[in-house]
This record gives sequence, structure tokens and C-alpha cells, in this order.
Amino acid sequence: MPHSIHTKNIAERMRWLAELGAEHSRIFASPEAYLQRRRYQAEHPTAILAFKCMDGRIHLPYITKTPLGIIQPFRNLGGAFDIGWPHLGELVTHEVLRAVEAGRRVLILVTYHHSRGERSRGCSGFDFDLEAARSSAFAFRRQLESVFGSDHQTVYPLVVGIETDEDALTLHWDRGTAIDLATFESADCDEADRCDELFFIRSGRVIAHGSGAELKFGGGQVLGKDAMDTVGSVAQYFSSDGKLILYACNIGGGQSRSFFQSLANRLGIQVCGFSNGVRWSVSWDARRRIIKRGIAPKPGDPIGGPLPEPDVCAKPKT
Ligand SMILES: [Zn+2]
Repeated sequence: MPHSIHTKNIAERMRWLAELGAEHSRIFASPEAYLQRRRYQAEHPTAILAFKCMDGRIHLPYITKTPLGIIQPFRNLGGAFDIGWPHLGELVTHEVLRAVEAGRRVLILVTYHHSRGERSRGCSGFDFDLEAARSSAFAFRRQLESVFGSDHQTVYPLVVGIETDEDALTLHWDRGTAIDLATFESADCDEADRCDELFFIRSGRVIAHGSGAELKFGGGQVLGKDAMDTVGSVAQYFSSDGKLILYACNIGGGQSRSFFQSLANRLGIQVCGFSNGVRWSVSWDARRRIIKRGIAPKPGDPIGGPLPEPDVCAKPKT
């Protein structure tokens, strides 16, 4: 009987709990589990921190089928946190820096929990008030953004709802947009299009330069005959109807069409750019959506205007 422990007396329950702890500890410390963790981290380098309620039902490794010891937990009553608390800010910053200095990005799960079936199985830390629990999570996410930035290039704080009846997660982009994984498969992801829209990149603007054997993105570059293959490794992240626009690419001179074509073939998406006077570069203000400075494609083209529309597009040919 899996739940027979509930009918035992307190001494037996304590012994059972201690034995369970010892068993978990034995498994965790085994060479097999250690190697499995290391392998998992090598395959999935993003560090994961989770802020959650101390409620025993909130067991993220179990819910997400992640090996124990990967998700770094921070627990408190109700999963309510304030980055201004003595020591907490220091602790979180330390964890983030430790990961970042090892070249890893950081996903921070800011969780709240509730029960769909019965309000009283929700979070007692918030007096079973789902809205209050959720608001607290969003407030903490804002604090994390004020500390680690809101562009989310290195640290991504994600609000996650945990529904404990089904151990189902709800992922929140912002307060208005969320994916409820409990209903996701049947309702939303039956249609390939919908999955595509939610999970894959639809369009991108790349301030990049390249030719068949040389690609430069920002400060990085890929050189040599393998350049296209290297770029191809990101193909899986694009939606099948995705589109990429290259700015600041100077190949021009009749080569742009074949370059965009080979890139399109490799990525499996449409790749666009400029045929004429493509040798220009810009600094793009993503928030105001204007060019801050740069060399315009044609003399007299405005700085401070929107990015121009590309005139060469290549669709992938297999
Ligand atoms: Zn709770």
C-alpha cells in the first residue's frame, strides 16, 4: 500500500521519513547519479534556480522529470520573496554569478501554486488566494528584472504556476499571456501551426555580415567552410515559415542572392537582405524601434527612421 504510512503512529512515521531521507541521500550520492547529473548539465547548460513555496507537494524535479540536484531551490512560506531581504539578494546574486562566470545562462523559475479542484488545497501561505499568490510571483519577477535586467539575454525570470492536482505547470510570458501545460497538448498543440507559433522563432533581424565561408554576428564570427553548417545547427529553433533579415551584410556585388539562398537552404527559412549598397551598418534601438546611428544604405537615408524593407529574399530550396 503506497499510502499506508498515513495510518501509522507518529514514531513509525518519523522512522519512515528518516529512512526515506537516507535512501534519497544514498541514491543522490551514488556514482551513477553523480555522473547522470554531470551529463545532464553538459547537455543542458542553462542553470535553473527555482523560488517556491515550502509546501511539500511542490517537487519540481519530480514534476519536470529533471534529475535531483539540477534545479537549485529557494523555499519560503507561500513562495513569497523579496530581493531586499537581508542575505537573499546576496545569495541569489552569488548563484547567478557563479553560473554566468562558468559561461551558463540562468533560468529563474518564480513559482506559485494552487489546486484546480479545491481552493483549500491551494497555498495556505496566501490564504488560498490564487490571485494574491500569482501577484506576488510577478512582483518578485519585476525585482529580479531590476537586478539582472529586463532584456533577459543572460538571466530569464519566468513566472510558473504549479497546479498540484495534476502536477501541471502554467508558463507565463507576462500577466496576460500564458501556456497552461495541463490543457496544452489537447487544446493548443494538436495543430502544428499553433505549436510552431508558441515555440519557434518567426522572424529575426540580424545585424550581421557574411559570405559563404564567413559569418559575423555582433562580436562573434564563424570562419571557414563549416560556417554554413555551424549556422545550420540553429535551424531547429525557427518556425517553418520563419524569416530572417540580414542588415549590415556587405557581400553585394551580385553575390547576395546566392548567399541568401544558401543561408535559406541551410536554415530552412526565408532569408532576406539588400542587393544594392548592402555595405552599411546600423545601431538599432529595439525599444523605440528606430536606427540610432549607422551608415545608411543610400546617402540621405534618414538616421532615426525605421529599418528599411529588404529587396532580396530567398526561400529555402531542398
Ligand atoms: Zn504554498
